[in-house]
Amino acid sequence: MLVLEYKVKPKPQQVAAIEEAIRTSQFVRNKVLRFWMDNRGVGKAELFRYNTALRNEFEFVKDLNSHACQTAVERTLRAITRFYENCKQQKPGKKGYPKFKKHSRSVEYKVSGWKLDESTKKHITFTDKKGIGKLKLIGSRDIQYFQPEQIKRVRIVRRADGYYVQFSIKLDPRDTVKPLTPTQKAVGIDVGLKFFIADSQGNTEVVPQYYRKAEKHLNRLNRRKSNKYRKGKKPQSNNYHKARQRSAKKHLKVSRQREEFVKKVALRLIQSNDLVAYENLNVKGMVKNRRLAKSITDAGWTTFRQWLEYFADKYGKLAIAVPPHNTSQNCSNCGEKVEKSLSTRTHVCHHCRFVCDRDWNAAINILQKALYIVGRTKIYASGETSSWLVGEILLANEDSLNEESTSL
Ligand SMILES: [Zn+2]
Repeated sequence: MLVLEYKVKPKPQQVAAIEEAIRTSQFVRNKVLRFWMDNRGVGKAELFRYNTALRNEFEFVKDLNSHACQTAVERTLRAITRFYENCKQQKPGKKGYPKFKKHSRSVEYKVSGWKLDESTKKHITFTDKKGIGKLKLIGSRDIQYFQPEQIKRVRIVRRADGYYVQFSIKLDPRDTVKPLTPTQKAVGIDVGLKFFIADSQGNTEVVPQYYRKAEKHLNRLNRRKSNKYRKGKKPQSNNYHKARQRSAKKHLKVSRQREEFVKKVALRLIQSNDLVAYENLNVKGMVKNRRLAKSITDAGWTTFRQWLEYFADKYGKLAIAVPPHNTSQNCSNCGEKVEKSLSTRTHVCHHCRFVCDRDWNAAINILQKALYIVGRTKIYASGETSSWLVGEILLANEDSLNEESTSL
């Protein structure tokens, strides 16, 4: 799925209509959740049937496009499923019992209830009875390129700086570009403590200064917001709301900067390598472990990884996630385990005397693991030698190479 996003500038009565649609979607979501809580054991079918009943009972629910109501039910279902899975897996800590939503920011349509301007595709018109009407799409990326049937979802999102329309587009990214010429390089990357990433070729990527600065500023704004907050006071003061607004806007800006940064790094890695290996990290656990630098939070790494996988797919490259065990402990030269604490910056192997920067060593291990995994993935394309046979040929070659080298 590719998401295209456009800013829209609705008129006051359209804002009211959008807010009304968001509220209705939230109403359906919460009602369905209540129904589930009150009737333990009800399944998906009952929840959807209850949604239909709601539409018959409340005129304002009926006014919202029926598919948009369905997505609200699906959201509840997702929350319920996640809760059940957490229980089944006996996940430690909170199981995430589904909660009622109070401050929804979006409403999601599927393939109906809206229409794009046929010729220019510069406007979208919402056609259900909420009366949002026609909105101009402001943004540079062109939706014109895609077929209307590729658009699977349309969301209206409220952010600190206004309203946005998002299109989820289903596509095979390889349809849109031709594969890049092989670079004949492979790289492993490690999430650094000091750097954003360190790679197996010895390069590091630092988190940009502007980003750190912006984050400090954001923290300051957040503090100001909490200072203005009065517990139990309703409504909160104007100053509180001003501070909240300011911090929300900054937050938005910082997250956009972060996205731009990680996107650029991901694209560069994919363009200059054929295979990129990285650790399959449980980021939530890591942040707790303080293995991860404060400067790049879980959101940063997760988006980075998503972009990496997206670009790999788009340009016909390999992005491989490897299990993260012992990548920083093992010696990338001889494979022996060399225990070290988080503060040890240099890997010094007392088995083979290999000395190397800690993150660099880990990155090489990550690459090795990925090659091992890929090497053992059997790919049977018609007419090709099965992989075990390839292995035999390689072994035979190795033997002859050894013979040659001994004779030399
Ligand atoms: Zn060693």
